[in-house]
Amino acid sequence: PSLFADVELAAPVVVFQLTADYNADNADKKINLGVGAYRTDEGEPWVLPVVRSVEAQMAIDPALNHEYLPILGLPSFRELATQLILGKDSRAILENRAGGVQSISGTGALRLAAEFLYRYYNKREKSTPVYVSSPTWGNQTAVFKNAGFTDMRTYRYWDAEDRCLDYKGMLEDMLNAPEYSIFIFHGCAHNPTGVDPTHEQWQGIAKACKERNIFPVLDCAYQGFASGDPDVDAYSARMFVDLGFEVLICQSFAKNFGLYNERVGNLTMVMHDAPTLSRCKSQVELIIRAMYSNPPHHGARVVASTLANPAFKQEWLDNLHTMSSRIKEMRQLLHSKLRAKGTPGNWDHIINQIGMFSFTGLNASQVQYLKKRHIYLLSSGRINMCGLTTSNMEYFVDNVHDAVT
Ligand code: PLP
Repeated sequence: PSLFADVELAAPVVVFQLTADYNADNADKKINLGVGAYRTDEGEPWVLPVVRSVEAQMAIDPALNHEYLPILGLPSFRELATQLILGKDSRAILENRAGGVQSISGTGALRLAAEFLYRYYNKREKSTPVYVSSPTWGNQTAVFKNAGFTDMRTYRYWDAEDRCLDYKGMLEDMLNAPEYSIFIFHGCAHNPTGVDPTHEQWQGIAKACKERNIFPVLDCAYQGFASGDPDVDAYSARMFVDLGFEVLICQSFAKNFGLYNERVGNLTMVMHDAPTLSRCKSQVELIIRAMYSNPPHHGARVVASTLANPAFKQEWLDNLHTMSSRIKEMRQLLHSKLRAKGTPGNWDHIINQIGMFSFTGLNASQVQYLKKRHIYLLSSGRINMCGLTTSNMEYFVDNVHDAVT
């Protein structure tokens, strides 16, 4: 018998399984609302035109080679990514106490943050509690657990009844958290709910962090996707920095550059002072060296070349706008069609939510019903708004109507 005879079969990762089920479905009319990737109104993946231009230039650049990058990644990329989230004139950047580390997309940034915190922050207690929002993107919990944290907890976030942020519950949970707990926040475009705190609420959240000495980790996978403007979506990150927090910010360029499979991310570390940043970065360097040695080049080069060139940057902003506008249009269309049909329930949350996802409020049995009609979504009722198009909207609305009546 095998030495591994006792290994149990793991359950499939739900969101990937959903896509496999969708692909295996032979129905003419079918809709995939599970996957977290942008789709055009034709239902196709979109390579951003600016990415195509930059890649075309790269293809004929005689100076490009396939040498190893430094362990911490492409310097220009790290610098530009940090500027993108903090703002070029950020005090923390000017004081040399903010710096970037290239990561294997957003997940990799979270993994580095978790590993770093487990080694150098966790010493305060046996196992520092780590709080994630309820609900959240499930991988946050898995990543922090895999780094060694054992005390994973949740804080209230979604008010299911009113379909909005449970701000009061969230603050209560923060104020009742053990001092020095780690809290993971979604920088913008909360996944899965599509509900973000207002600026005033963010200030209240920061105040609670101060009061309980909570360490904030910001998961920013959708900068620019929420409002269409990366500066606007950076509010929470810049607020924490302006208020003098030390903070780890996990950036993904999967969604806002459409570079999903290139795995481009950055961990922006903001520390109290420049020497602390240098020491902490040197430790992250050792973590990376033993984990995967150094990061890949292509995607980081695409992002850096875009952000460094004013014309390309403008084109990127226009591309971002195209994506965020299409999502907003689909929200409006879905909302108006449900209303026009008289589908029971208040659907205003569809247009109030932001970012790629909407938490529809559909329950697990309604989701099951939709699956029989070849419409695939997570059992939580989360849908990817870009899975909807002007041509499949009618079919979706008809079936949602049937599911809830
Ligand atoms: N964080 C959140 C909240 C996400 O929704 C995602 C992607 O779905 C990620 C992080 C990381 O994605 P990636 O590793 O593809 O950058």
